[in-house]
Amino acid sequence: VKGLIVNTEKTIIAPATPPGEGGLAVVRLSGPSSEELLRRFFKPSGKFPSLDSHRLYHGHLVDANGSLIDEVMAVIMRSPRTFTREDVAEIHCHGGPLIVQQILDLFIDAGAILAQPGEFTLRAFLNGRIDLAQAEAVADLIHARSVSAQRVALNQLQGKLSQIIRIYHRQVVDLLALVEAHIDFLEEDISPPQPDVLCRSAEDIIEAIEDLIAGFNSGRMIHDGLRILLAGKPNVGKSSLLNCLLGESRAIVSPSAGTTRDIIEESLLLHDLPVRLIDTAGIRHTDDSVEQEGVRRAREKAGSADLVLLLINADQHPDQDDLLALDSCRDQKLLLVINKQDLSPSVQLSSPWSDYPRVFISAKYRQNIDGLIEAVRDLAGLSGGADSSESVMLYERRHYQSLLQAKSCLQRFISGCRAGFGFELLALDLRDTLRAIGLITGETTPDQVLDRIFSRFCIGK
Ligand code: GDP
Ligand code: ZN
Repeated sequence: VKGLIVNTEKTIIAPATPPGEGGLAVVRLSGPSSEELLRRFFKPSGKFPSLDSHRLYHGHLVDANGSLIDEVMAVIMRSPRTFTREDVAEIHCHGGPLIVQQILDLFIDAGAILAQPGEFTLRAFLNGRIDLAQAEAVADLIHARSVSAQRVALNQLQGKLSQIIRIYHRQVVDLLALVEAHIDFLEEDISPPQPDVLCRSAEDIIEAIEDLIAGFNSGRMIHDGLRILLAGKPNVGKSSLLNCLLGESRAIVSPSAGTTRDIIEESLLLHDLPVRLIDTAGIRHTDDSVEQEGVRRAREKAGSADLVLLLINADQHPDQDDLLALDSCRDQKLLLVINKQDLSPSVQLSSPWSDYPRVFISAKYRQNIDGLIEAVRDLAGLSGGADSSESVMLYERRHYQSLLQAKSCLQRFISGCRAGFGFELLALDLRDTLRAIGLITGETTPDQVLDRIFSRFCIGK
């Protein structure tokens, strides 16, 4: 939506179903002429003096010359009880691309305009039907590839995050009112608010914000997938484990996100846990400068992993090469995966190896892979209902950053209070806080950011 040029006087049209052949396709109109346009081309079967709102009618779609285009079902939904809060019409036609194109042409010739990507959702946002966090959740819901990602997006679409954000907003507004009252009525003898009272209110708000911020890491992992690095010396079974987990995966989210000669990354779903598995086959010591650059990039990528699975052999004591592998990732969250348990029932581990949580598996014979997945969930903090249906979970980095910003504005307010700054200055910090909070719901979001958000949508959403 370039520059958010949305003329809500215009009626937009777009297919609401994906392109290609299907049993049905749905073409959707939104805007003031939706009903008039629908009536012009849709001839309901039987005698219906008026089309009732929100009711599906059988009938025929004919063009301006009266020739039949398709036998369809159609519904008019009158404002404001619609997704966009505008009059909306839907035509359910046979699912052929040619039919859909003919219907689009018909309505566009009659004055409708083709919707921009995300424009239906954008109109819902501009008309106050949903706020920005909810609009974003529409896209997340559509793109969700795991049940938990779907659930957190659905919660957000229902406005659960927005409700909490509105509470924070309200609290800051109250605080600002207190401060501003004192600026405006300086002459009168209202006793000024006590700094420690102001500070305490701000601290309470910060505390609440921190609760939400604390859940971001889990939310992010559910939304983006947990980044897991496979590490270990050569021949310890990394590729075998990768293949084993790929076999375990119920759905491959994207076939192969970025395979280079240094690093293999696969997206998969492990028991509904979205995972990005990184195999660093290419990380090794080398003197070749080109290769060194590859190694450096691979290490960098590895460093951003949420969790490292460090493989060692069950049938031999960890040696110098194992230590080297451990050294490369010991600052990260680490699970020791003792592979080839089929060869040896147990290996005696001493420090530093005994310091890490561990799980025994056989990648080759697929033993205890469930145990491994459970251990991964535990370590990532995703086992105890972190994504339960009731909880609100922050998963969008944009929201997280806005809250961090709000928190730091409030902290500035508190130190200002303590330092005895004037109320005018303190009010500025609170207004900055409100601006930061408003970024989440869209009240203060700049157009470029809105552009970016809505451009993630496809046409028709
Ligand atoms: P990588 O170099 O770390 O990727 O190791 P590979 O996955 O290529 O495995 C090296 C060798 O170990 C291969 O011959 C595998 O068949 C073998 N291997 C891997 N996992 C197991 C296991 O669980 N048990 C046994 N016995 N052999 C395994
Ligand atoms: Zn390998």
